[in-house]
Amino acid sequence: MAASELRFLPFALLTALAVAACAPSPPEPPAPAPEAVEAPLELAADAHITSELAFEHVTFLAADDMRGRDTPSPELERAADYLGERFAEAGLEPAGEDGTFFQPWPFERSVLVADASVAAYTVDGTERAWRYGEEYFAIPGPPTAVEGTPIYAGGPGDVAAGLPQEAAGGIVVISLPDGLDEGFALSVQAAMIAGASAIVLILDDDTPASDIFQLAAALEAGAAGQFPIPTIGLQHDVGEEMLEHAGLAAVGERDPPEVLDGLTLSLESVFESRVDEARNVVGVMPGSDPALADTYVVLTAHYDHVGVGPADERGDSIYSGADDNASGTAALVQIAAAFGDLPEPPARSVLFLAVSGEEKGLLGSAHFAGSPTVPAEGIVANINFDMVSRNHPDTVYAIGDEYTTIGETVQRVAAERPELGLVAAPDPEPEEQAFLRSDHYSFVEQGVPALMITTWLHDDYHLPSDLPDRIDPDKLARVARLGFYLAHELASDPQPPAWTSAGEELLQNLPF
Ligand SMILES: [Zn+2]
Repeated sequence: MAASELRFLPFALLTALAVAACAPSPPEPPAPAPEAVEAPLELAADAHITSELAFEHVTFLAADDMRGRDTPSPELERAADYLGERFAEAGLEPAGEDGTFFQPWPFERSVLVADASVAAYTVDGTERAWRYGEEYFAIPGPPTAVEGTPIYAGGPGDVAAGLPQEAAGGIVVISLPDGLDEGFALSVQAAMIAGASAIVLILDDDTPASDIFQLAAALEAGAAGQFPIPTIGLQHDVGEEMLEHAGLAAVGERDPPEVLDGLTLSLESVFESRVDEARNVVGVMPGSDPALADTYVVLTAHYDHVGVGPADERGDSIYSGADDNASGTAALVQIAAAFGDLPEPPARSVLFLAVSGEEKGLLGSAHFAGSPTVPAEGIVANINFDMVSRNHPDTVYAIGDEYTTIGETVQRVAAERPELGLVAAPDPEPEEQAFLRSDHYSFVEQGVPALMITTWLHDDYHLPSDLPDRIDPDKLARVARLGFYLAHELASDPQPPAWTSAGEELLQNLPF
């Protein structure tokens, strides 16, 4: 509430200044108000970080005609062009390659060739083929064709007790009722040790088609590497349908292992290697202190999302990604504009980096962090904005605040600016491992102190319903202001951010 009232303040202030400028010279010009010294930061924020502008950027990036900004896609390139234009408008200097705002990176992946691939079962001469990226995903591997009568091995508990001899050379079907995280590695390992020729995993019923589509895309991007034998994950319902057609008893009454006589499974996943180009968008506001201008506070947001996939119940198949992460991108663009409007930039340089390929495994940020367009040793901090426009109006999360001194700084900045109406809370669900799940992690891997600003997950996460009309533009603008003040603070402090002892420990034990 306080923030929306504040929005009208700059207009009133500017009008007053304009009137003062045009008025005939007053006999006794009043002494400048003491607040005037503080004003430039707030004036820049008021002029460039507003809920209206935030909503404008989000509606552009998350419009239907942007088709979910998949990496790679023509729409992603349009988004990159838009961001390059905004950076130029903000007065940033190009900090990509060859004097441009862009850093291209090669997106290497294995793509399933649908025409050459088969995933189907036959009962009584009737074949039922599954739809890739909707009913099943496949783990990339060599194009081995497998056909035969499968053996149902039960769940991870059954598999752990050992697979029967018939599994050797056979197609092994395993149920994962508790999700992919529970039992996937164990099941696959057991089936391989038993000498299976192929593995079919029946996923839990919490894995909708939208998840299968995104898992398939992530696997194509190489997250899981190459598998030696054909391995697919089947949507729960179609897997159960197959077991029923095979005459297998209802769930709970089954007694694995059981050879599924009368059922023939045919599997062949043909993958083709492809290399596409995607781009990061990079601009810099050079620092004003010659001694610190070659050090950089890097602000990041990913502008890609997951593209077009299975439709939801409303028939919408465009995964718009308004909160994830048009919102963080809007914050980045607005913060850039505010920095561009300061009478004097802070001592250090501020680098603005909009990355692609995040949804495919943090690929664009990993490329930049590994091959930065500015000297790597100059990068002193990374603040990442990912999903910053939803949930409770007062709460923003500072993910990773315990690992670096940036945690303390963000708490202080939020406390010093009650008008933002934001509490910078610690990680609400550490088990979600958010610290590993966005682009700041690419910087952590390089030893750069980093923090993620987020307003957390919600029911529309990675679904077509993550739409612009569901975001809270007022909150987005307040979070962006917090990011602006935080970045300004870090870029003005002669002391660079440092790791805490918890952070040092984390660096010694990075999971990836
Ligand atoms: Zn996402």
